[in-house]
Amino acid sequence: MKRKLVLVGNGMAGVWCVEHILKLAPQQFDITIFGAEPHPNYNRILLSSVLAGDSSMKDIVLNDWDWYRDNNIAFHAGQAVTKLDTANKQVVSDKGITVAYDELILATGSLPFMLPIPGADKEGVIAFRDIKDCETMMETAKQYKKAVVIGGGLLGLEAARGLLNLNMEVSVVHINNYLMERQLDETASRMLQVELERQGMKFLLEKQTEQIVGKKRVTGVKFKDGSLAEADLVVMAVGIRPNVALAKESGIELNRGIVVNDYLQTNVPNVYAVGECAEHRGVAYGLVAPLYEQGDVLAKKLCGLECEGYQGSVTSTKLKVSGVDVFSGGQYNDEPGTRAIKIQDEFEGIYKKVLVREGKVVGAVMFGDTSDSSRIFKLIRTGEDISGREKEIVLGEGFGGKSGSGGAGVESMSDDEIVCGCNGVTKGAIVKAIQEKGLTSVEEIKACTNASRSCGGCKPLVAGVLNCTLGEDAVTAAKEGVCGCTTLDRDEVVAAIRSMHLTTSKEVMHVLEWNNPEGCSKCRPALNYYLGMAWPVEHAEERESRFVNERNHANIQKDGTYSVIPRIYGGVTSPQELKKIAEVAEKYDVPMVKFTGGQRIDLLGVKKEDLPRMWEDLDMPSGYGYGKALRTVKTCVGSTFCRFGTQDSISMGIELEKRFERLNTPAKVKMAVSGCPRNCAEATIKDFGVVAIDGGWELYIGGNGGVRVRASDLMWKVKTEEEVFEYSAAFMQYYRESAKWNERTSEWVQRVGLDIIREALDTEEKRKALVARIDEALNLMKDPWKEIIETPELRSMFEALPEKEAAAAAE
Ligand SMILES: Cc1cc2nc3c(=O)[nH]c(=O)nc-3n(C[C@H](O)[C@H](O)[C@H](O)COP(=O)(O)OP(=O)(O)OC[C@H]3O[C@@H](n4cnc5c(N)ncnc54)[C@H](O)[C@@H]3O)c2cc1C
Ligand code: SF4
Repeated sequence: MKRKLVLVGNGMAGVWCVEHILKLAPQQFDITIFGAEPHPNYNRILLSSVLAGDSSMKDIVLNDWDWYRDNNIAFHAGQAVTKLDTANKQVVSDKGITVAYDELILATGSLPFMLPIPGADKEGVIAFRDIKDCETMMETAKQYKKAVVIGGGLLGLEAARGLLNLNMEVSVVHINNYLMERQLDETASRMLQVELERQGMKFLLEKQTEQIVGKKRVTGVKFKDGSLAEADLVVMAVGIRPNVALAKESGIELNRGIVVNDYLQTNVPNVYAVGECAEHRGVAYGLVAPLYEQGDVLAKKLCGLECEGYQGSVTSTKLKVSGVDVFSGGQYNDEPGTRAIKIQDEFEGIYKKVLVREGKVVGAVMFGDTSDSSRIFKLIRTGEDISGREKEIVLGEGFGGKSGSGGAGVESMSDDEIVCGCNGVTKGAIVKAIQEKGLTSVEEIKACTNASRSCGGCKPLVAGVLNCTLGEDAVTAAKEGVCGCTTLDRDEVVAAIRSMHLTTSKEVMHVLEWNNPEGCSKCRPALNYYLGMAWPVEHAEERESRFVNERNHANIQKDGTYSVIPRIYGGVTSPQELKKIAEVAEKYDVPMVKFTGGQRIDLLGVKKEDLPRMWEDLDMPSGYGYGKALRTVKTCVGSTFCRFGTQDSISMGIELEKRFERLNTPAKVKMAVSGCPRNCAEATIKDFGVVAIDGGWELYIGGNGGVRVRASDLMWKVKTEEEVFEYSAAFMQYYRESAKWNERTSEWVQRVGLDIIREALDTEEKRKALVARIDEALNLMKDPWKEIIETPELRSMFEALPEKEAAAAAE
């Protein structure tokens, strides 16, 4: 005789547990499920994606109506259990159905917390928890314009992004002085805010909501400081509370949630709780990964299988907002006793911090690039002792750069380790699906197992499992879209720009049907570059698409001041020039003057409002120490002074720098010229290196001296200076035309292959054509410092606020 199993709550945790029970012991139970919502089991996480327009309601169903029927489950959809009689072991629904149980699972989830303030019950004030809320927001956006989201946490920001996509004006109200303070440190949070502001979100920080105003329907939100924000819709995303209503009257022990032991048992025999409604060792979780772990343990327990009890979970979170990569796991703030490994790259908008205590990784925060997150999170979860190897282990996998392999460490993962945290997909499940269903791509794995279907952050790891299972040769190469806004890759976008003669980013996004009409921080600067490269004359620079350093033509420093590096061609200066630089440094109280690794002089600690005056006083061109452009041409003294020198490396370096300065390139470009093979200018770790030899020059490409050091490849040997100029120009243009935006030459040469590059420049005709195209672009370049000094409108952007106001008052 089968035992009667009743599940109250048709959500993610409860149904996950039932799915496992069906796998472990399909014949053991007669199963009944009650679900208060009138839908089959769906993926709540993906509501953000539905709201943002990336998925439809249909896409997010996890188990459809047939699943219940096929598994002989009596499913009471749209019925809430309102009475629990533990003495007689039965439950009663709001529609009067009574069902007896031998085992009862409570999986009633959470209720959104609604601020108990006047007006909170007005029409247009909702939470973000279920399909109904999502539908309300989508309907509201059709008639109304202004939305206020209360709560700058994960849920609030995802709601805000979705509402922006629905063309609403969105303000996010947050009580704290920075966003997501329960997952991020202040640095990551500020970077996030800047990006979200660029996407169009407005923020009202340190605001305490006092009242929702309006007659029947909301018209605004009033704050304790007396200010008011207009609103047609208010979404409260200020937290959740375990839904314990049903358990309350039944003698079940409650604290914040339903108290359970390591086997998810409550204090009442045969009654269990899983999911957000349960409280285990004092913690009620609000993310799916721990809830799935709980579900696994309970399934085994109910099927009578031996298992270690649930031990609690370390959680991690990712923000599911297009174009924003944010990860947080474990501890996120520096504390006494912890030491941090930090990387902050303001050019790429990347910040990574890993916290280590007593030789163990205890937490991490990442912004801009989360490709290492699975690897680092595994270190946090396993608590592996890495004493003495901290930097080696943390930094070892290309941590500082973009796109770690993701495959690292996959081999050593156990089968029950979770790869996709959102959907709780284990490595074992992925491997099994690959082997049994013959899957050969990440997309197929996603469709079959749900891995990477939600936030997509685990994609590199899924790819790693695929590579590891089949071997790289058998894997179908995944097409890499420019960003989350399109499935088109770089080559397809550039081909469309050329063939359809698209000249603005707006046009590209519209014609190529970007799923996010505003684009994101990845595609906007990339498109600006591709358009400028393809149509140097017609494309008007889209300044707003540039990162802050490129907009301000100076490098922002960690204290908010800027650094100024004037152009010093070839690293050769004069006493007069040095005197002038010294005078400017004194005049503007520059706190530090420093020589750079590229033989230039850096004036650090300059206030933004001083920049134009300082540039004017310097009267030197911009050294582009901030941009995706030629930075420096480093030179040795060469034959001018050095007794070993075979050629005039200084003149060559100066000429090259003058030739290519200001040119927009996919990523920064560094050059060097050495006067003999002793190579004092380190030309073989530069993007383009020139080394003098007897009777000619060797030309090297693809070197890098940064995080991932790469020695360059010797490509050409030439005899004359003219040839050096021709090859260098042809090479630069070919790189401009075929690299992805933000791809350094060191990555590009490896992706494209040396033979292809050689072939592209192998005849004079090809080289001359490339040179003609680069010259067209070079002829249009202007010195940005000079342009700003001479253009009042541009110059005014650097003025301090009071100056601006004074100017406005004078008008
Ligand atoms: C918009 C959004 C985005 C999210 N993003 C993420 C994310 O990126 N990563 C992540 O890990 N987590 C995320 N979460 C959280 C995640 O969805 C929850 O942790 C998870 O759904 C909780 O599962 P659960 O089964 O405990 O509760 P639920 O999924 O809420 O299921 C509980 C169900 O029980 C029903 N119920 C309640 N009482 C009764 C009753 N008396 N009778 C019958 N039925 C009842 C409810 O109607 C509900 O359908 C997100 C949540 C939301 C809302
Ligand atoms: S590279 Fe050769 S020429 Fe240049 S400084 Fe060194 S030894 Fe002298």
